[in-house]
Amino acid sequence: MLIDTHCHLASPTLVGEMDGVVERAIAAGVTRMVIIGTDLEDCQICIDLAERYPQIYAAVGIHPCSVTEVDTDDWLDQVAAWAAHPKVVAIGEIGLDYYHDAPDGWTTETYHQRQKTFLERQLELAVQLGKNVVVHNRESWDDTVDMVRAYNGKLRAVFHCHTSAWAAAEPLIAANHLVSFTGIATFKNAAAVREAATAAVPGQFMLETDAPYLAPVPHRGKRCEPAHVRHTAEAIAQFRGESLEHLAAHTTETARDFFGGLGSM
Ligand SMILES: [Zn+2]
Repeated sequence: MLIDTHCHLASPTLVGEMDGVVERAIAAGVTRMVIIGTDLEDCQICIDLAERYPQIYAAVGIHPCSVTEVDTDDWLDQVAAWAAHPKVVAIGEIGLDYYHDAPDGWTTETYHQRQKTFLERQLELAVQLGKNVVVHNRESWDDTVDMVRAYNGKLRAVFHCHTSAWAAAEPLIAANHLVSFTGIATFKNAAAVREAATAAVPGQFMLETDAPYLAPVPHRGKRCEPAHVRHTAEAIAQFRGESLEHLAAHTTETARDFFGGLGSM
């Protein structure tokens, strides 16, 4: 039994064939999916999907690449209202993204500042609600870690799609945060991910797809879906010299602990 702890099933490329996506996941042994909201439209879709499928749980939040599209002042109240839903198990996807250019009408400075404001307010909300957070960082590692560090001991964060060496993750792990690994672990040129996924001990990491992105080998370059987390699990189990069953058992336990339940399986 495996859990895809981070996928975007509200994506237009997946949402239209959800019965098939869920069936294929179950057939691959992926019996829980945590689907991750990124903006005010798709958080609502995530809630609807979580209500429809017992296998689906949700995280809600405003992704750093969506902060300039939010044009209401009550966005945080909306996130808080969704977070009260019994199947919402985290706040996310939140974080900082310095990879993408500022959209029209924004400078790099005002764009990054708005991302920081959104991250800060959602971290505060998570503490108030007693939820953990799903964190995105891209070319923004130091600032993201600095901002989350202020909440050490008050919440736990998963730094998703970890692609650096394990040494980079160690300060986070020491503060009781987690990382998660995507299908990048199956790519031939991903030596750092292989090293990190091998060095991590049980309880320090989870598995994810980030579907519809980052499909693992043998689906690389195609649309990714939660069933594919099995390929990532098989590859990581092999680097670690442990059985797929053992890896599945401890990553599932880590996810259940981090998200607070996910129902009886
Ligand atoms: Zn994501």
